[in-house]
Amino acid sequence: MALRHRRNAWLDFGAGIAVNALGHSHPHLVEALTRQAGKLWHTSNLFEIPEQTRLGARLVAETFADRVFFCNSGAEALEAAIKTARRYHYARGNPERIRIITFEGAFHGRTLATIAAGGQAKYLEGFGPKVEGFDQVPFADLDAVRAMVGPETAAILIEPVQGEGGVRPVPHAVLRALREICDAEGILLVFDEVQTGIGRTGKLFAYEWSGIAPDILASAKGLGGGFPVGACLATEEASAAMIPGTHGTTFGGNPLAMAVGNAVLDVVLAPGFLDHVRETGLLLKQKLAALVDGHPAVFAAVRGEGLLVGLKCVAPAAEVAAALRAERMIGVPAGDNVVRLLPPLTIGESEVDAALVRLEAAAGRIEQAARATS
Ligand SMILES: *Cc1c(COP(=O)(O)O)cnc(C)c1O
Repeated sequence: MALRHRRNAWLDFGAGIAVNALGHSHPHLVEALTRQAGKLWHTSNLFEIPEQTRLGARLVAETFADRVFFCNSGAEALEAAIKTARRYHYARGNPERIRIITFEGAFHGRTLATIAAGGQAKYLEGFGPKVEGFDQVPFADLDAVRAMVGPETAAILIEPVQGEGGVRPVPHAVLRALREICDAEGILLVFDEVQTGIGRTGKLFAYEWSGIAPDILASAKGLGGGFPVGACLATEEASAAMIPGTHGTTFGGNPLAMAVGNAVLDVVLAPGFLDHVRETGLLLKQKLAALVDGHPAVFAAVRGEGLLVGLKCVAPAAEVAAALRAERMIGVPAGDNVVRLLPPLTIGESEVDAALVRLEAAAGRIEQAARATS
């Protein structure tokens, strides 16, 4: 019975698109949320919220940042980042510096400013004039960045690994070069780590792999482990102009979200946890490489960092994801004909093995369908 149950159980390698970082119903998160729910839900930010102060201090202690603004989603974290970058230059007597350089294939959210930042026609169409001030260059193209920087440039905004764009890691050398360009030009470097953050790549934030740090960083998704929360992290210098009254939120930083965020950090920052993510990611990628070799008509390559893994497909990615669902496994299609595998960071070798069994079976389904129609 137990075995049959396991075969029928779903294997969630989507995790709400990298949101359920600790899986579903993690006992420590359930406990934190229900304990807080019995106390206080909301007070407004007119009052100090101790859990918010604590989560902010912990993020500051673990990162480049000196200050944190809490909100409710990734797009809101990006909005705060964009406003912070513009206000930085405004306060320094350069109000003309409003433009932000972004990259083809980017995804930064669904608000009016973030669809302009992402620059993808399919998300912009039908929503009126594109918000002004975003200049897009080809993916990881440093020459194009240098050519684009001008007297109105405020910042460069980039995902260290493009998520929706198809798990495309930006080479570390490119990230370091962007840091140099920003320093030389007096502009700000903004990382969108909404998908890559909170342990997903085997570091708390993916920028740590590159050896440089941004001035501003947007976080969300895994930070709440499934509870809506976002955060904009920044250095003191970059955010000095964001004084009380310049920006705000009603729900952001509420006690429920903060209790869960602290509980997520309890687990992710525990000794050995990120090592476990790195080791499991390596194991998964090694086994996927063999899968790719064995099914050249279905898969082309495996890429990514930690447990942010992309399977570049030969067959249409949507078809691969559908075949996976038929095997009761969730993977998430992305750009560049990729299926993303974003399992909970808590998986172990047995879940990796179970995933490979289902991926093999899904590949078999696609090969069989191809034979039947040829
Ligand atoms: C999901 C995502 C966003 C948007 O987050 P929302 O919570 O949906 O607003 C922004 N940037 C990246 C890289 C994302 O993956």
